[in-house]
Amino acid sequence: MRLDKFLCDNNIGTRSQVKEYIKKGQVTVNDQIIKKPETKVNEETDTVVCQGQPIHYRKYVYYMLNKPEGVVSATNDNTAPTVVSLLTVPEQKDLFPVGRLDKDTTGLLLLTNDGALAHDLLSPKKHVDKTYLVKPEKPLSAEDIHRLENGLDIGDEKPTAPSKARLTENGDLLLTIHEGRFHQVKRMLQAVDNQVLTLERVSFGPLSLDLSLQRGEYRALTEEEIEVLS
Ligand code: URA
Repeated sequence: MRLDKFLCDNNIGTRSQVKEYIKKGQVTVNDQIIKKPETKVNEETDTVVCQGQPIHYRKYVYYMLNKPEGVVSATNDNTAPTVVSLLTVPEQKDLFPVGRLDKDTTGLLLLTNDGALAHDLLSPKKHVDKTYLVKPEKPLSAEDIHRLENGLDIGDEKPTAPSKARLTENGDLLLTIHEGRFHQVKRMLQAVDNQVLTLERVSFGPLSLDLSLQRGEYRALTEEEIEVLS
């Protein structure tokens, strides 16, 4: 791959910025200063250093989005903006969401181009916990909490698997499930004769929603976050 593309793919800068760094002699490949942006590098074997920083090529990228309402969890859609369209990153066309949130659900959604990791995280066998903050239409009783936690008939072949449910100080519900059935949280609330007013995902596996992200904002996962996910 070209040296300038290699640097761009690793978010070192825009194509014109990285060309500048290269022309100024700020980039080495295997300890040699390279001044031609079109120079080919092997991302697996060459050691590229830019402004003194070694660059480890990442084939895959991982982003955390704070999903806003009104956006669909898909790669393309004719009727509404998609979560992918919110990410203005070089890899945008290869990204897909890890699972789905309903159009009116907000909160933590991962996007990646790593099909194997996404498949793994979504596998029912993996039992990845997902925690939702639910604003219910009516106050939930201790009996409702007990029923939510112990498996409910929501009209599917099998009852839901046991979950964790607790009320927050203001009577909202924090519900942790590891299944990913269609409209699962909404249907669980309906099964206890209630309704979801608002639904936000606050954690996915070991990751919590980064509260510094406004709705619609995103950031790349850190190396440590990628590590704990895999
Ligand atoms: N459960 C739902 O009902 N909706 C979501 O978006 C996620 C979980």
